[in-house]
Amino acid sequence: MAEQIQPIRGMNDVLPSEIGTWQHFEACTRELLGAYGYEEIRVPVVEHTELFKRAIGEHTDVVGKEMYTFADRGGESLTLRPEATAGIVRALISNGLLRGQRHKLWCLGPMFRHEAPQAGRYRQFWQVDVEAVGCPGPDVDAELIALGARLWGRLGITGLKLQINSLGTPDSRRAYRARLLEYLRAHAARLDADSQRRLAGNPLRVLDSKHPDMQEVIRGAPLLTEHLDTESRAHFEALCAMLRAVGVSYEINPRLVRGLDYYNRTVFEWITPSTGAQNAVCSGGRYDGLIAQLGGEATPAIGFAMGVERLVALVQAAGGTVPAPRPDVYVVVSGPQAEAQALELVERLRSERPRVRFELNLGGGNFKAQFRRADKSGAPLALIIGDDELARGVVAMKPLRAESGQSECPIVRLAAGVDAALARVHGGGPAAP
Ligand code: ATP
Ligand code: MG
Repeated sequence: MAEQIQPIRGMNDVLPSEIGTWQHFEACTRELLGAYGYEEIRVPVVEHTELFKRAIGEHTDVVGKEMYTFADRGGESLTLRPEATAGIVRALISNGLLRGQRHKLWCLGPMFRHEAPQAGRYRQFWQVDVEAVGCPGPDVDAELIALGARLWGRLGITGLKLQINSLGTPDSRRAYRARLLEYLRAHAARLDADSQRRLAGNPLRVLDSKHPDMQEVIRGAPLLTEHLDTESRAHFEALCAMLRAVGVSYEINPRLVRGLDYYNRTVFEWITPSTGAQNAVCSGGRYDGLIAQLGGEATPAIGFAMGVERLVALVQAAGGTVPAPRPDVYVVVSGPQAEAQALELVERLRSERPRVRFELNLGGGNFKAQFRRADKSGAPLALIIGDDELARGVVAMKPLRAESGQSECPIVRLAAGVDAALARVHGGGPAAP
């Protein structure tokens, strides 16, 4: 046998056994975003490397060490997208869609980061990304957060905690940065290598460190919240009041800085107590400066991204696993005449009853083998197309999950016969959706 080709570490297959839960997650998300007035956008998986460098920031982990960057055949530096916001902003600019317009957009797709793979942390992972462009907030900030809270409810996920913070404006942050730098320099000996590196580039990043030895130093650091400008403080207080008004509980985490450089004012993160260091399931914030930084006209915006693998795992843990769909009707075929006519008959049924799932036995097999497959398929009803029956103008029907016996139905009334039989096996209800 030829040697097997291995999958890439940290890049997963989503198998048919899991796809039901993924589709359920996607359907709930799609429906809710639609109800809030968000429109879907699809942007390329690859962009010019420069886009991410400029948007996310050179001193972030994402740009500094996690990007999949390569030269294409023309020698251009391209990067597999590590997140979606930069690409969406680029798309708004390239398509001339800004011009003072508002946009509420969402995007689903795979993202790529070269991280250390472990449970809940992958090198290809899926995100649902949501962006509201053109509103300065805080009302849109509050609505976006409320949308998240509502989604967890619909998905049956409980126990998520919301952390919020304000990063202020670039100006107020500059003043704070100086204070922080002073503090961190005084504790330089206790900083790990990563934090040393961040100290030189962007000291705020040190607060984002997940290194256990760093937590004590971080706890003692001066707080950004104490250096906010008046307007940012008012924005933040209004957001908090709106969240209280709609009953969304939150915790202010003054050390929440987020891993990407483009944020200002509101930042937030939904975290789960259940998955260790991979505890963020949804994170985002306001990025009022990003669009201008990428060459568009200055436009305020806010957005967030959810980690689909982490959320699907929570749906499963909450008992919300959705099994793969099963057929309604398994069609057993017996005899040369029947084999010649079965496909035509089933295709006609498929035209007459587009919502019913018919699984035609393919590849032959004796009666016993076909019924074994029929049982395994999970279909509640079997149709038996046999030479004897065909000669009499009928097809036999047999419930597979109930004790009631076999019956016959004239071929001319087969679609109606299938409806009636399915209604009986589904306890009088309609066929499975
Ligand atoms: P973390 O702190 O876990 O590294 P992050 O701050 O880097 O997350 P974002 O860039 O804000 O994450 O991405 C938004 C969401 O995408 C995260 O809340 C998380 O649920 C998910 N996510 C991020 N990186 C990964 C990954 N490598 N594998 C799986 N999901 C991820
Ligand atoms: Mg990260």
